[in-house]
Amino acid sequence: MSIGDFSARCGLSAKMLRSYAAAGLLVPAAVDGSSGYRYYSTGQLHQARVIALLRQAGIPVDDITAFYDNPDELQLDRWEREVVQESTARRQALAEARAALAVGHEPLPARPETSRKGIEMATKVSPGTSTHIGGRETNQDAVLVGDGLFAVADGIGGLHNGEVASRLALDTLDASFNGDRSVAGLLNACREANRAVGQHQTADGGDATMGTTLVALAMTSDVKAVVLHTGDSRLYRLRRGRLEQLTHDHTVTAELVRTGELSEEDAQSHPYRHVLTRALGVNPDVDIDYAGVSCEPGDRLVLCTDGLFKVLSADELKGVLASVAEPQQAADALVNGAAERGAEDNVTAMVLDIR
Ligand code: MN
Repeated sequence: MSIGDFSARCGLSAKMLRSYAAAGLLVPAAVDGSSGYRYYSTGQLHQARVIALLRQAGIPVDDITAFYDNPDELQLDRWEREVVQESTARRQALAEARAALAVGHEPLPARPETSRKGIEMATKVSPGTSTHIGGRETNQDAVLVGDGLFAVADGIGGLHNGEVASRLALDTLDASFNGDRSVAGLLNACREANRAVGQHQTADGGDATMGTTLVALAMTSDVKAVVLHTGDSRLYRLRRGRLEQLTHDHTVTAELVRTGELSEEDAQSHPYRHVLTRALGVNPDVDIDYAGVSCEPGDRLVLCTDGLFKVLSADELKGVLASVAEPQQAADALVNGAAERGAEDNVTAMVLDIR
């Protein structure tokens, strides 16, 4: 068979057949000495089809050549394991990409950008914080203004459990981050906070759930501003008059809205609208989103609990943030605005001005 006929029958292009032959694979049965034309035998069709299938499975040509030089059926098992491993690694990377995107922006660079260090060290943050008990008997929200670490947490659990969980999480995060201010240190601090809340719960012996949401902005030593987030507390950024929500709530309804299974409108009255899909202190493994956040002088960031945004609309938030100059006064105006509106839940806001 000429190379053209053979190509048509086995489904490999003439170009591929030539490159395989050059690699010592599926060498033509005969070559015309004067014209240089290649001829394949019908007996080679079977091998050609197997090669086409192995290529489809992603096996490199050199590996197929080696396989035919030394046929070994166990090689198929090894390829199979490689395919499964690669697929697992790709799915893992995809899941991580999804997690990074869920927080909005600028996934962390694989290696810290040391050149940014000088810029970040020069970043000044002016905070203002405010909290209100709302219509509840206890205020289970907690705030932290640390050294380069700003956080808000909304405790979960009956009696005083929620209060204990949110405070313990923030204090543990702060102490641990102070010992290592790198991104790795921050993530480790988060794991420690998760463990501290989980262990406190176990030590208590009660079966009541204890946990907390967390939204934190950290100025790390090696990258830049990083947001950490789990649960339904939020981070917003007001930049040049535009308010952007940088976190996506980890709630049953928010996730259904994201996948298009529930409309924004129906989510407001959905029976599971308060059900969190993630929180600190609930699982042994910390389940948190993190990402780099760009902070420019003039930006105003807001960390808040759900008590605020369930009462004030995004437009109302923006209105207050754009009109009240000082961060402390802006935080008070937001929280008082929600309280005056008859907020049922605890309300907490932290306003950070980047200078
Ligand atoms: Mn709340």
